[in-house]
Amino acid sequence: MKYLLVLLVIGVAVAWLAGARRRDLGARRGAGGSRERARRPGAEPATMLACAHCGVHLPQPDALFDAAGRPYCSEAHRLGGPR
Ligand SMILES: [Zn+2]
Repeated sequence: MKYLLVLLVIGVAVAWLAGARRRDLGARRGAGGSRERARRPGAEPATMLACAHCGVHLPQPDALFDAAGRPYCSEAHRLGGPR
């Protein structure tokens, strides 16, 4: 009877550990999955451009350009012009 109780405790502990590991893996896979979804398969990494006003680097699709084609990080810096 004593051994049955020990086996029961071990069984519960193993089940609990397996559940905890599954939750941990699921959370990690979820975080990685969203990162994978953000990057389209086969897509080239975005070209990084430096803001002509403050010099901060930003991906080309997020950049704003003035009439001369200079990249800016924001509308405020585009209006501020190159430094
Ligand atoms: Zn800027």
